[in-house]
Amino acid sequence: MTRTAPSSILGLTAADLKPTAEFAAWCDAHDPLASFRDEFEIPRGADGRPVSYMVGNSLGLMAKTSRRLVTEELDDWATLGAEGHVHGRRPWVWYHEHFRSGLASLAGAKESEVVAMNTLTANLHFLLMSFYRPAGARRRILVERGAFPSDRFAVRSFVRAIGGEEAIDVVEVAPREGEECLRHADIEATIAREGDSLALVLLSGVQYYTGQVLDIANITRAAHAVGARCGWDLAHAMGNVELRLHDWGADFACWCSYKYLNGGPGAVAGAFIHERHHGTPPPRLEGWWGTNPSNRFEMGPRFEPGPGADAWQVSNPPILSLAPLRASLDLFQKAGMESLVCKARAMTGFIEMALRDRGANGVRILTPPATSERGCQLSISLEGPPERARRVFESLKPRGVYCDFRHPRVIRAAPAPLYTSFGDCWRLVDAIASVL
Ligand SMILES: *Cc1c(COP(=O)(O)O)cnc(C)c1O
Repeated sequence: MTRTAPSSILGLTAADLKPTAEFAAWCDAHDPLASFRDEFEIPRGADGRPVSYMVGNSLGLMAKTSRRLVTEELDDWATLGAEGHVHGRRPWVWYHEHFRSGLASLAGAKESEVVAMNTLTANLHFLLMSFYRPAGARRRILVERGAFPSDRFAVRSFVRAIGGEEAIDVVEVAPREGEECLRHADIEATIAREGDSLALVLLSGVQYYTGQVLDIANITRAAHAVGARCGWDLAHAMGNVELRLHDWGADFACWCSYKYLNGGPGAVAGAFIHERHHGTPPPRLEGWWGTNPSNRFEMGPRFEPGPGADAWQVSNPPILSLAPLRASLDLFQKAGMESLVCKARAMTGFIEMALRDRGANGVRILTPPATSERGCQLSISLEGPPERARRVFESLKPRGVYCDFRHPRVIRAAPAPLYTSFGDCWRLVDAIASVL
């Protein structure tokens, strides 16, 4: 059976991939998203060439317009002082509103359901306060054993702070013995088993270590079926996989903006609160920025909530840490998540196949093989002694390939379809294969 060759990388299927440098070059020449790469500053290696940047899941690269957007705010501050709050070119009082449409489209949410605010772990605490409300026998929170440490610390400290008992109230799901990824059946069985004792399910949309994508729609449904709420940490999901939080019914979600969203170091994070909680909101920790902007400055004693998710804001936002995110969200809007996901799948498929073809023995991919169960990340386990794994990892940077390393033997490679080329992917493969 023969297929006509696709005219662009967006039409590639697994069967079209070839593990060669020539194929990578063909992909770059037939990539309708290729020009977005020019919109980013790409660090250069010792040879002066842009590096193969595979750590966008740690800190996404800087969109070139970020510099201008930050400078404009500095200029308004310099020339207007406090007047900038209302008379700046983008008045700071309403500044967070510029992020609504971009965040809503990436989250698959209504604009009223998202807000750019705080940082990720802070948002986790705020949202736990609203949505983890243990009462009577329903007091448990289901999390993942291998969760990112900050999430673990947030949940456990929160449980203690409200007088709960970690050992009883925190229930964990984990991969089976000898496996790396969670099984959906196990998650759903745990939810069903906990039943009436479960107050909240809190998981990651994309697991940071393995790159596994969880089925948000079905897990949320399973949580709701036993009367629990369901919230999501989307640190590795926003801007990486397609999301439909509103339709999937998630109660809440939060994410950081410096990974796939390229918002810059420590960028302002974001939160989603489903519309069903807007009318009769659960208890929440409040601050003046959550009040209605039309009378916020009357400084009245009563908290009159602003619309939707905005009411969860507590403080006036750090404008300089928000500005770069505008640049990146704009690029996401232009490129479109659907195309980005197509390219991402082609890139991880290509890296995986090429690694195998180059006889990179002793390499095991922990990320699920199904494209629907992975984002744009491959977690590459280098089997054998950890010292060897370290050595392989340390040989990458001098070759102009930036990845990250998770003790004891996992290299995480996260190409970013907005700015990573197939040539970059080939360099990664070449670098690993040549040292193994
Ligand atoms: C990156 C990441 C964090 C980091 O938390 P900050 O509050 O942004 O420092 C937390 N949780 C997860 C799952 C992450 O991937």
